[in-house]
Amino acid sequence: MDIPEVKIAVIGGSAVMGVDFPGALDGVEVHEEGVVYGTPFGPSAPFTTAGIDGIEFLYVPFHGITQEIRNVEPDSAGERLFYVLMKAGVTKIIGTALCGSTNRLLDPTDVVIPDGFVDYTTKRPQSLTRSLKRKDVEVESTMYRLHQPFCPSLSGLLVEGSRNAGFPRVFSRGIVGVAEGPRLESPSEISLRYTQQGIDVVTMNLVPEVFFAREIGACYAALELISNYGEGLVSREWSGHDAFGNFLDRWSPPAAEAILYALRNMDVEDDSCGCSRYRWKTIIE
Ligand SMILES: [Zn+2]
Repeated sequence: MDIPEVKIAVIGGSAVMGVDFPGALDGVEVHEEGVVYGTPFGPSAPFTTAGIDGIEFLYVPFHGITQEIRNVEPDSAGERLFYVLMKAGVTKIIGTALCGSTNRLLDPTDVVIPDGFVDYTTKRPQSLTRSLKRKDVEVESTMYRLHQPFCPSLSGLLVEGSRNAGFPRVFSRGIVGVAEGPRLESPSEISLRYTQQGIDVVTMNLVPEVFFAREIGACYAALELISNYGEGLVSREWSGHDAFGNFLDRWSPPAAEAILYALRNMDVEDDSCGCSRYRWKTIIE
């Protein structure tokens, strides 16, 4: 299947798993579902191509991870996913995930639109360019900085969208710690690696998408929905069902609405956010 030219992508995550995204949402027209693209790393996860108010976007569920495609190197979900987004010419990306609070002021159902991240992962790809070169794919070499890793324009739309969608508390900044997983953290890890380091929430799949977006020259913002307290932070009184079952039935629909608000209101041609200033071509191969 040929990769279509599309400017906008939504990378789904656990936060919208309680709703049939995007087809079940008002105003969305799904063109095709289950579309698998060939990549140098193997077949992609199944994509959905869709439009809202005539604005076309690509959607992939759960960070491009499937039973067959893992989030670790080699040939990881991130490498496959971002090859497709690069070939599509995507310039604006919205990501989303559930997360645990590691800041004692934050509670489940709070939304954080982050402005910073710290990468604690150990097995994720760090450069799409290098991964492609290992597959003998010709690709322009770029360098980038991670100043302003999250696009302020897209983040602002997610803040507005989350408030309009009815979340009780929406925070317009916060630092995400990204854990390797797949296990959850111990109380000591939450305390020593996250809370005491000033990390607000912990999640698992913001990496590599936050910096692969910069690498392909796209703006990126994320909606982080707190589903549970970090272990030992406040209370032990939560179960997987509370955090992921009933919780998603209630809170995935407004998370989806917040993302659709951002899609409806973004200007794909606008680069006044300045994100593109932090990436440049390099002469070093
Ligand atoms: Zn931007």
